[in-house]
Amino acid sequence: MTRRPSVGWHVATVVESSPETPSARRLVLDVPTWPGNGAGAHLDVRLTAPDGYQATRSYSVASSGPATRVVLAVDAVPDGEISPFLVNEVRAGDQIELHGPLGRYFLWPPGDGDPDSDTGVPVQLVAGGSGVVPLYAIAARHAEVGGGELRLAYSVRTPADAFFAPELTALVGAGRLRLDWVYTRATPAGWSRDAGRVTRALLQENTIPATHRPTVYCCGPTPFVEAVAGWLLELGHAPERILTERFGGS
Ligand SMILES: Cc1cc2nc3c(=O)[nH]c(=O)nc-3n(C[C@H](O)[C@H](O)[C@H](O)COP(=O)(O)OP(=O)(O)OC[C@H]3O[C@@H](n4cnc5c(N)ncnc54)[C@H](O)[C@@H]3O)c2cc1C
Repeated sequence: MTRRPSVGWHVATVVESSPETPSARRLVLDVPTWPGNGAGAHLDVRLTAPDGYQATRSYSVASSGPATRVVLAVDAVPDGEISPFLVNEVRAGDQIELHGPLGRYFLWPPGDGDPDSDTGVPVQLVAGGSGVVPLYAIAARHAEVGGGELRLAYSVRTPADAFFAPELTALVGAGRLRLDWVYTRATPAGWSRDAGRVTRALLQENTIPATHRPTVYCCGPTPFVEAVAGWLLELGHAPERILTERFGGS
């Protein structure tokens, strides 16, 4: 049995900050004391102002495994306190405090590091916007491990707003992932469906059926996750197979 990473406080140095979408940046952090993390984990970022005021927010980890390089992707919430700072102000060489890894309930495989965990169970991922961050980590790990069927339904405003687009496309190209896009504001040219929000019918059409008993990981803004989780139950998915992570917002 592999030992679980111990949770603690860490000082991270930003190695790279690069554009992820028009409103988001990918941050690569060097965290020498990081104990590694399972796919789907998150951490808390704590910022301290010169006057001592502190604020903490949670961010999912897009990377997984034993590495001490930790990848985050942060979307700037308009008028937010922390995310615009992380997106617009933080640069390579800056230091930030982290607490983690956190979120054992949302890891894939469910008991990551546990030899008993079954990687052959079908996995359905459902993402809204930046909610794809932990799901990308899961998809990448799933591709490495060689698990069973893997499908991602990804709702984004426009094609330019997709996080990890080249990496997800590469997983599709390698035959490791089936990816179903839902565009809510604008579609690529020639797209077969008009832009619009996820509905129960779209979810049904673009996900592994309940009869295949997939484990479903759903992540995104709170209203998105609540709507999707409700429809999954109506479509016959077992409650214990629906894992959710809510990013906030109303
Ligand atoms: C487990 C977990 C993992 C997360 N991982 C990520 C991640 O990988 N990338 C990422 O960009 N964010 C992630 N978030 C969201 C993040 O923690 C912050 O809530 C977000 O960055 C906004 O913080 P803020 O200080 O800028 O806004 P705040 O000052 O806290 O809020 C400003 C306003 O924005 C609203 N709001 C807050 N969060 C959201 C949201 N997600 N969508 C829409 N409106 C919102 C608030 O209700 C409020 O009205 C995660 C949240 C959780 C709980």
